[in-house]
Amino acid sequence: MEYEVAIIGGASAGLSAALALGRSNRRTIVIDSGNPRNRPSPHAHNVFTRDNTPPLEILKIAKSQLKPYPTVHFSNAYVKEASRKNGLITLLTDKEESITVRRLILATGLTDLLPDIKGFKELWGTKIVHCPYCHGYELKDQSVGILMNGKNAEHITPMVLNLNKSIQLFTNGKMDLSSQFKKWTKLNNITINETPVAELVDDKKGIQIKLSDGSSHLVKGLYSRSVKYKFHNELAIQLGCKLTEEGAVQVDEMYSSSVAGVYAAGDLSHGSAHQVIIAAAGGAKAAMACNNSMIMEDYERAK
Ligand SMILES: Cc1cc2nc3c(=O)[nH]c(=O)nc-3n(C[C@H](O)[C@H](O)[C@H](O)COP(=O)(O)OP(=O)(O)OC[C@H]3O[C@@H](n4cnc5c(N)ncnc54)[C@H](O)[C@@H]3O)c2cc1C
Repeated sequence: MEYEVAIIGGASAGLSAALALGRSNRRTIVIDSGNPRNRPSPHAHNVFTRDNTPPLEILKIAKSQLKPYPTVHFSNAYVKEASRKNGLITLLTDKEESITVRRLILATGLTDLLPDIKGFKELWGTKIVHCPYCHGYELKDQSVGILMNGKNAEHITPMVLNLNKSIQLFTNGKMDLSSQFKKWTKLNNITINETPVAELVDDKKGIQIKLSDGSSHLVKGLYSRSVKYKFHNELAIQLGCKLTEEGAVQVDEMYSSSVAGVYAAGDLSHGSAHQVIIAAAGGAKAAMACNNSMIMEDYERAK
């Protein structure tokens, strides 16, 4: 067998897993289609030792630090099929490459399904941000908008108030907010506008939020979020891995899935607190569990 472990997904989780496996002298292949989730953002933040670094630069550094480990290899491909037989896992890529391994780490992330609002996609990751930990400090003390409704709005608005005093909340249709929250927004001078959003327009001073009543509201930045996560769980499903209700791969504290020999790390393995450093930590843990399980398997066989 050419490789012992395959890692599918070569971003924060996958490359971090590769480091632990390279340092464990494991013949490892990282197969990646090159589309990390945070690629629209000019800089990643809240990343230990790499704060304010472009996302692709972080991955370039991670890859360069894998060079001293000759057992780690890379393939630029998309894995379309995975199957498991007699304890071995076989993968098929879009380049018709077939790879059979003892262990598999899935680090394929997820896609943000964005709201169908004109201009949203173009500004996502630059002037439209989803997370105060990732991009909140850069908007600190500026006038910001929040384009959310319901529980999401009630969750994020107090977090944004921690960094900004001038906040406008846009619910894009009839508001679904508790009376307690509405009272709290009044006390903190947060305006709530439920007129549907017609378009978001890039402006040299920020973003123009154009509403269907013809009014326009200028903010420096806008907090919003995807309508839904589309977890890249197709291979996990083919292998028979259990999923959580929202579609993440169900894992234990060492990132083992419900299928022996298959691990999942990074955004694919949980539904919230998606962060580069957390994905990297998950990848490292999955790799340790994966390496240990091979050590124990070989030890048991040899006994
Ligand atoms: C706009 C935006 C900005 C963000 N900013 C920050 C920030 O500032 N700081 C921070 O900590 N977090 C940030 N995040 C969150 C961060 O992007 C994720 O937590 C992180 O990318 C998760 O890493 P991952 O390795 O799990 O997945 P990803 O980074 O999404 O990587 C998955 C990789 O797997 C590949 N892949 C998928 N399927 C296959 C397949 N079948 N075959 C081969 N390859 C495959 C993809 O092409 C991709 O390269 C941001 C998120 C968004 C949406």
